[in-house]
Amino acid sequence: MDFSKIEENFQRLKEGEITPKDGLISREDALELFKISRWEDYLKLFKLASQVRDYFIDEIEITSTIHVTNICKITPKCLYCGFAAGTSKAGYYKPFRLSDEDIKRCAIAIERSGICRVSCSSGHGYQGKEVIRALKIVKENTNLEVLVNAGGDLTEESIRELKKYRVDTICCNLETINRELFAKLKPGESLDRRIEICRLVKKYNIELSSGLLIGIGESYRDRVDHLLFLKKLDVDEIPVMGFNPYPGTPMENHPRCSSLEQGKTIAIARLMFPSIRITSPTPTIGPELVQIALLAGASNVATVIPENYPLDVKGVGNPKTGNLREVVRMIRELGLKPKLRDSYDKGGSHKNV
Ligand code: SF4
Repeated sequence: MDFSKIEENFQRLKEGEITPKDGLISREDALELFKISRWEDYLKLFKLASQVRDYFIDEIEITSTIHVTNICKITPKCLYCGFAAGTSKAGYYKPFRLSDEDIKRCAIAIERSGICRVSCSSGHGYQGKEVIRALKIVKENTNLEVLVNAGGDLTEESIRELKKYRVDTICCNLETINRELFAKLKPGESLDRRIEICRLVKKYNIELSSGLLIGIGESYRDRVDHLLFLKKLDVDEIPVMGFNPYPGTPMENHPRCSSLEQGKTIAIARLMFPSIRITSPTPTIGPELVQIALLAGASNVATVIPENYPLDVKGVGNPKTGNLREVVRMIRELGLKPKLRDSYDKGGSHKNV
């Protein structure tokens, strides 16, 4: 693989001859990069992607999570899902819906820990009402930035409501744009509905997060086409989520996506989208492997739980979530700067709410 052309494009970007929206690589380059397998090529790819991230982004963001409800009315359930009630004994399994008071306690604990951003997510069947409820409570009680994720469950009206209550980002993951695969893995859902929601989010000038679930049987071509499609949607954030099987689900025997494969996808996304937020959720890469995502050019680590969190949290994609202290240590070990409030260094995550 010849990296010199990408280096030249990076130089042109720094000199203003091209813009971040142009990206640094073509479709063909991306396909070539997905085929690399020699460690020398991985190191060159990661080095370039990290340099590009560091040129545009000073601090690594950390996003915590509040799971508002795991009661999901989609039937049949998505084949990989271990989050919704009744899907996997390693997940929550029992149905729950957080009370307003619990949402408030979680949000205050997150803010006190030093974290600046939270994701509030719910299953389907509420037309966005559950995430609107959470957003209102978080914004009334904290200064946290809020991403909401209700997948394909939003309506135009609920998007307008979310805007009214100052949502920062709306996430609607397409997971894969291979239609056959989407229909097989998500038989109760519609890809077109999700695409429509992404368009509506942009229509209302709200930051759009939309990510890829990888290692589910898609080809490299599918991944490249998906990233190009996200470019057309003008996404502001791309979560890269490696498949990690939940026991008891129809995909429990499907192999886990390796951290290196996730790193490669993050790095290629970074070269295509030099300046946006690229997210690695800790459960999908494996909380202990966050550094691979950071070496590959990720700029946000998600599903990070502080010590003072008042409830038990399971990850989406893998029950193991990232602990705040561990994540901060891993970011700092690489000479990077985590984005935190002052309360972090005053021991905020050890204080009870
Ligand atoms: S992945 Fe999301 S939409 Fe699918 S069953 Fe699970 S909670 Fe419901």
